[in-house]
Amino acid sequence: MSASSTDPIIAIATAPGRGGIGVIRVSGPSLQAWAGVLCGQALKPRHAHYLPFRTQDGETLDEGLALFFPGPHSYTGEDVLELQGHGGPAVLRRVLEDCLARGTDIGLRLAQPGEFTQRAFLNDRLDLAQAEAVADLIEASSTAAARSAMASLSGVFSAEIQALSERIVQLRMLVEATLDFPEEEIDFLETYQAAARLDGIRTALDEVLNTARQGLVLREGLHVVLAGQPNVGKSSLLNALAGEDVAIVTPIAGTTRDRVIQQVHIDGIPLHIVDTAGLRETEDTVERIGIERSWAEIGRAQVIVHLQDARHPDDPLDVEIVKRLPAGTPVLRVLNKADLLAAGAKGLGAQGLGVHGAPEDQPGAYLPEPPAPAGATSAAPAVQLLQVSAKTGLGLDALRARLLEIAGWTPGAESPWLARERHVRALEQAREHLQLANEHASHSDQVLDLFAEELRLAHESLCEITGQFTSDDLLGEIFSRFCIGK
Ligand code: GDP
Repeated sequence: MSASSTDPIIAIATAPGRGGIGVIRVSGPSLQAWAGVLCGQALKPRHAHYLPFRTQDGETLDEGLALFFPGPHSYTGEDVLELQGHGGPAVLRRVLEDCLARGTDIGLRLAQPGEFTQRAFLNDRLDLAQAEAVADLIEASSTAAARSAMASLSGVFSAEIQALSERIVQLRMLVEATLDFPEEEIDFLETYQAAARLDGIRTALDEVLNTARQGLVLREGLHVVLAGQPNVGKSSLLNALAGEDVAIVTPIAGTTRDRVIQQVHIDGIPLHIVDTAGLRETEDTVERIGIERSWAEIGRAQVIVHLQDARHPDDPLDVEIVKRLPAGTPVLRVLNKADLLAAGAKGLGAQGLGVHGAPEDQPGAYLPEPPAPAGATSAAPAVQLLQVSAKTGLGLDALRARLLEIAGWTPGAESPWLARERHVRALEQAREHLQLANEHASHSDQVLDLFAEELRLAHESLCEITGQFTSDDLLGEIFSRFCIGK
């Protein structure tokens, strides 16, 4: 992305396809005169002009509204022209091409993805976390995510980061000043109650970090893979969780030959659930490819739901499957078709649900191969046992709750803003530097310059979030993921 460029740029800002209206957006440092000629009349700032969109030869391409926003009080901080016409791909393309043809004199070119928002960032209309929130708001797949993205966009998250930064800067100023007067260094920590100040900052940062982690779950969700033998009810479970028929359910083994991914929202958290081909020995080539893909999916999962038939919890094939599950990935062992068990036979709980935390319920079933002596199984995935019925809905609430718990979501917790992986990482880095600063401070022969340096690094990590301290590469990466016209 040409970050330094100030060429006028143009793009269709509305989504591709047909719609009631379609918007073309132009941004550049000085567009007023050009916009007036293009529209055949002088445009009053922030005023809706209803007019025909005509070519230079006088052909009317469309008619609609023209709006002119002079910089710096516009989305990008530059002059912005918006043409709102009819939302059809052909008509929008014609207007766009006409604008481009008539904009060669001023160097008008097509905008790259995210370039309007990048200009807003470069012109200080938004900080980086807010610019990211624009993309997150557009991409939000649930009400909760949209609400939190909007909060980030309005600057709630940035304000928290700013407040932390200011507290660190104040402490830095005191240390740096002391460093200029070596004779005062010895008393620095006491004189300025530096340890208490640092503690306060660390506590505040931990709170922000916890909220950011929740915000990350809300944005990213959890990657769940349903694995198990054919016919245990994987597709039925996916449908039951999704509340609609997405996967083909049949009583013939081996029907799901490829993976089906469905996004299911629980409490606003997106769960990306992959239904895989049933795992079994097979001569069928196509089915075998499907099974290989299943194992690949299982390798990528954040949590594996190993589905079994509740009537055969000790099936030898399941023991084989368990042996191949990757160590370290949490496994939820779910016994489906609990409705077919003789009533009361398994001592089901209030919701017809038995939750047992340990593999000991089924001796041997989840031991790694070769059978290991007690105490040597720490590398085996943590296993949880649930009983459900995809058919009657029995136990599904508990399954949903368990999945959210694994995702790291605290039920009922508000996530005031949406966070990204890079925000959480930056906060964790800042936390480590503050931790190191604390160690330097609590040393008997405190080394003030090292203390100061860690504070500086912590501050720098926070600045990465809002973009005051960000490499061009990172900027390019962030904005290139935007859609065109944003
Ligand atoms: P998959 O091959 O693991 O995806 O299994 P399907 O979802 O296609 O289900 C196989 C068969 O089991 C179908 O006939 C389903 O109707 C049936 N089935 C699935 N879940 C349940 C359940 O909880 N209870 C009962 N009684 N039948 C179920």
